[in-house]
Amino acid sequence: MDKKHAKKIKRAKKKKKNRKLAQDQQQQITKQMNMFDRLPDKCSACSEEFPKTREAHMTWQVVVYNQENRVSLFCPACQEKAKKLVDGEKNEFNA
Ligand SMILES: [Zn+2]
Repeated sequence: MDKKHAKKIKRAKKKKKNRKLAQDQQQQITKQMNMFDRLPDKCSACSEEFPKTREAHMTWQVVVYNQENRVSLFCPACQEKAKKLVDGEKNEFNA
């Protein structure tokens, strides 16, 4: 085996490693895409349908439970309710 050949093999090995890395990244992206697929099409609390508008994307809250591999979606009204609930608890606590 001459030096040139050895270099060629070395380069090929490096290429393989890069491909593996790209595969890993691709898998990571695919995993995240799957999570996005799991995005509910309605509010997880009141079952109101998610209007696929720009505004809705800004105002609806997505909660990702990574450990449970679950995604929940909350409409603005339910976010408000949840906030009030927390506030109410606080008030009770303070009283
Ligand atoms: Zn809701």
